[in-house]
Amino acid sequence: MRFSKLYVKTLKETPKEAVVESHKLMLRSSMIKKLASGVYTYLPLGYRALKKVENIVREEMDRAGSQELFMPVLQPAEIWKETGRWDAMGPEMMRLMDRHGRDFILGPTHEEVITDIIRNDISSYKSLPMSLYQIQTKFRDERRPRFGLMRGREFLMKDAYSFHATDECLDAEFENMRDAYSRIFERCGLKFRSVEADSGAIGGSGSQEFHVLAESGEDEIIYCDTCGYAANLEKAESVAMIPEYEKEMKPAELLDTPNVSKIEDIAAHLGIETSQTVKAIMYMDTVSEKVYMVLQRGDYEINEVKLKNLLNETELVMLSDADLEAHNLKKGYMGPYDIELGDIILVADETVTKMVNHTAGGNRMDTHYINVNYGRDYEAHIVGDVRNAVVGEECPRCSGGKLESARGIEAGHVFKLGKKYSDSMGATFLDENGKSNTMTMGCYGIGVSRTVAAAIEQNNDENGIIWPVAIAPYIVDVIPANMKNADQVSLAEKIYGELSAAGIDTVMDDRNERPGFKFKDADLIGFPFKVVSGKLAAEGKVEVKVRRTGESMEVEAEKVVGVIK
Ligand code: ATP
Ligand code: MG
Ligand code: MG
Ligand code: MG
Repeated sequence: MRFSKLYVKTLKETPKEAVVESHKLMLRSSMIKKLASGVYTYLPLGYRALKKVENIVREEMDRAGSQELFMPVLQPAEIWKETGRWDAMGPEMMRLMDRHGRDFILGPTHEEVITDIIRNDISSYKSLPMSLYQIQTKFRDERRPRFGLMRGREFLMKDAYSFHATDECLDAEFENMRDAYSRIFERCGLKFRSVEADSGAIGGSGSQEFHVLAESGEDEIIYCDTCGYAANLEKAESVAMIPEYEKEMKPAELLDTPNVSKIEDIAAHLGIETSQTVKAIMYMDTVSEKVYMVLQRGDYEINEVKLKNLLNETELVMLSDADLEAHNLKKGYMGPYDIELGDIILVADETVTKMVNHTAGGNRMDTHYINVNYGRDYEAHIVGDVRNAVVGEECPRCSGGKLESARGIEAGHVFKLGKKYSDSMGATFLDENGKSNTMTMGCYGIGVSRTVAAAIEQNNDENGIIWPVAIAPYIVDVIPANMKNADQVSLAEKIYGELSAAGIDTVMDDRNERPGFKFKDADLIGFPFKVVSGKLAAEGKVEVKVRRTGESMEVEAEKVVGVIK
């Protein structure tokens, strides 16, 4: 490719909307172009990087024995109603109607579609296990689309699904996928960590996230270098703070426990150190899918009847799903944090006061709890002390190590789904004895477009992107220093031809520009190597510059391909 023909419109100024480096650099180096909030075009350079990640993912998924298919983006509401996710997905789901007034959605994920396929096609244990994947555009109407490709509303995902006759078989596939994921991120040239995660609203029994390590990552991960234990913050907290949770103690048992009447007792029971400011505990339980709110008796004067009942006449308040709905407390309305089922939130004193004041306050006497909106009227904080209680403490898994924390970008996620979808959608099979059983499932996602952004987040400097070689749009930029010097230009052309013939993605900077200008562009776009044909051209030599290390070598023209390969 000749630079003069390359689709690049580099920007000197950083567009205002960009906060994180990957977003700034992808805009500045014209890898992507925004169409609407969270919706981007992959311009030729960005698309090449995306394709490279996609190919690595495809090769490793094929190697792991999964078969590629391609499911529709457009999905009828019926299958989502079968699993209950038509309601549960809330405002994140992109919904539309066809001309006949039938409801459809644009797929945020494909558990329903794949389960519908399998329940129709597979009826015998002989066809199991089965693993399928696709690489496709997903749609999620994120509350806060931001950071460019990192959190888009339209983005590229690899999603895989596996179906099994037994839990042991699912366990084996889960391991197989974890290994494939490690190979994928290694081949992409990224520093990453796999961490334990809560299964959250998707349900299921085991889950691991793959995080690309970067200071700007939205997630905090906790790890122990002594035993290798690693978890995302929520999971680490539930392990460190609530040993009972790990032992699968149900909230019902907790509420029935004698002598647990005050918030301090509950906190002590949960192993949470309460500070003065903690007045309530909201507990969202994965098993019952209910939110529990624990408040101390008699702390507040409340006028509104229902709230009075809720807060004053009982110490332990249990909110049913219907209450949740009515109180606007369902998932999706829980900002500013993405609070998921299974999370534990400590609500600070100030928050409770605000919430109660708003409810009871002055001329708003007619206001009741229903009109108190999360985010607008009050916030729940994951209280600072909680985090501090984890980092620096003894690792819950080994007694030798100390827990440390790092920031990461969730690039992949593997789940044991169990029977959540196969049960509700009736994906059954006949076993060896001719008995009908429900299949058990796993699902495995990788954010392909997010991985491209994460790679830049992890690999950049003040001059621009530093692509890992495996996913660089182009690997080499051949730059004649002086376009008027025939020797320099012809040597550059020769090397460009040889590199291209050797299958190395190379650009020839044939523009009539000063070398400094070309170097700046090369560094911004992030070519792993620059080959400069300058004064040494007369001796048949060029300079090879390594973007990552800044290292520079004099190389004989014939040896350039060998040095770069
Ligand atoms: P997050 O916690 O960041 O919202 P998620 O847990 O909702 O992600 P999953 O449902 O686990 O995402 O989807 C699988 C993968 O898809 C994620 O690990 C991530 O890499 C990618 N992904 C999810 N949402 C987005 C998005 N809005 N933009 C780009 N990639 C995304
Ligand atoms: Mg999400
Ligand atoms: Mg997540
Ligand atoms: Mg996830």
